[in-house]
Amino acid sequence: MNFQNNLEFARGLDAKDVLKSFRQKFFIPQHNGKDGIYFTGNSLGLQPKSTASYVQQELDDWAKLGVEGHFQAKTPWMPYHEIFPKQLSKIVGCKENEVVVMNQLTVNLHLLMVTFYRPDKQRYKIICEARAFPSDQYAFETQAKYHGLNPVDAVIEVSPRTGEHTLRTEDILSTIQQHGDSVAVVLFGGVNYYTGQLFDIKAITEAAHSVGAYAGFDLAHAAGNVELKLHDWDVDFACWCSYKYLNSGPGGVAGAYIHEKHAANKELPRFAGWWGYKKETRFKMEKGFEAIPTAEGWQLSNAPVLSMAAHKAALDIVEEAGVDKLHEKRKLLARYLHYVLNDINNRQAEKIIEIITPDKEEERGCQVSMLMLKRGKEIFDELTKQGVIADWREPNVIRVAPVPLYNSFEDIYRFGEIISSILI
Ligand SMILES: *Cc1c(COP(=O)(O)O)cnc(C)c1O
Repeated sequence: MNFQNNLEFARGLDAKDVLKSFRQKFFIPQHNGKDGIYFTGNSLGLQPKSTASYVQQELDDWAKLGVEGHFQAKTPWMPYHEIFPKQLSKIVGCKENEVVVMNQLTVNLHLLMVTFYRPDKQRYKIICEARAFPSDQYAFETQAKYHGLNPVDAVIEVSPRTGEHTLRTEDILSTIQQHGDSVAVVLFGGVNYYTGQLFDIKAITEAAHSVGAYAGFDLAHAAGNVELKLHDWDVDFACWCSYKYLNSGPGGVAGAYIHEKHAANKELPRFAGWWGYKKETRFKMEKGFEAIPTAEGWQLSNAPVLSMAAHKAALDIVEEAGVDKLHEKRKLLARYLHYVLNDINNRQAEKIIEIITPDKEEERGCQVSMLMLKRGKEIFDELTKQGVIADWREPNVIRVAPVPLYNSFEDIYRFGEIISSILI
């Protein structure tokens, strides 16, 4: 498609957008009485208008039924988490017995590392991306220390080449090969939070397996954003949060995936709790942990129902929109945003914005990371003043993410206009 950077063209794309009515289902933060340009769905997805009624239902059931709500609520609380695998398995590409909603992201990362990172003298390294999200870095560092290892030896980061911002798949794969049978686990993001680079999950998983290591992924920036086929790609484990692209509210309940071949293995070591115990006899409250032979076997605690109600409201909207349609629109939004930014760059005497997110569609999701070569913070502050909600990452990156459920092509055009007016 030949794009044009003008309002009429952007509105034309919106007119043809089969998902355009979904914007009405969300509260859009206001700026001077008008919709702001919300480009931080990669940080905190917007609130669906339906969320309140889902949460209210649980509050009402609690008021009316008290403890009986565990069995008598409209959606009984005891098996509440069982409402998620059907929808989530489509979003992350797995079987229903491979996915569970529980805890929060970093907690799940630690729990999965307890199972899949069990270093010995020979095999003790974690291979990860340099500049992984800080919480992940701290998890890797402290897991290594917990096992009595020096993180400097145990945590191997793959960095971009000098002068480059993103990783080359060939460099990731060769690092894994180079460390060979000293690698215990390869643990990458799906999409890097800083650059927006989407990694080749399938190739990384194959490389990990070829040296006898497990492959795990933190999908915080991938779940609900890019196409995932965790089961077919043979990924061992993964986790994600629900409050970014999955619109389930601040600090919302998170998700985890464990490949069926491991999920059914009740012998795998884990930190257990009663909610992972086999359901038939859970309430006999007997000694001796017996795991549910699915991803549910990693649960610790009973379901946080209020947070899960918000998650359900958001997933029902994803289901109504259709995962495939979301991906189609997401790609077109990202292409249009890249086009508009390149058009602005071409009209400047001096380049100010360098897009560090890969240009190739298969290497990115919604997010575009703009490295500001000059006046970065000043431009960011001015964007904020003019109603653009983007995010600033030190030292000089502005991240923007138009998301298919509630952003429009007009949002992108208006963003371009505002940034051009600031650059003049
Ligand atoms: C957002 C994000 C987190 C946040 O972790 P919480 O446990 O949800 O606070 C962790 N890791 C990555 C990669 C993220 O993008």
